[in-house]
Amino acid sequence: MPKPNDLEQKALQLIVNSGHEGILQSELWHKLGASSREGSRIAIKLENKGLIRREKELQNGRWTYRLFPKRLPASMDSIADCPCLMCPDNSRCDPSNVISPQTCEKLTDWLFTIAKNYPKALGDS
Ligand code: SF4
Repeated sequence: MPKPNDLEQKALQLIVNSGHEGILQSELWHKLGASSREGSRIAIKLENKGLIRREKELQNGRWTYRLFPKRLPASMDSIADCPCLMCPDNSRCDPSNVISPQTCEKLTDWLFTIAKNYPKALGDS
């Protein structure tokens, strides 16, 4: 039988893997092979630790919870269009030089676009 911390770790991994769609509590317990009582305890523990959030959801006429990760790992997609990756000045760019990320308009524009399109990515969680 897995230790409670192992189950907690596996549960968190499954919730993180569910991404923005989240996962129903019952689906999670099924995947973990845990009882609903044990599963509920783990979900509350993860929520109290600030690792997940639970949202009430009506499923087949019964109230349950959908579990969402509070933080998702960064993906390569999130920086794929960063101007620095293809910048011809990349090798000379340094905060102590004339060419610097602190004064770069291309980088500033890119960061403003991210802030506008993904406000939650910048800490509004
Ligand atoms: S900060 Fe600007 S100048 Fe520096 S590497 Fe990125 S895009 Fe190029």
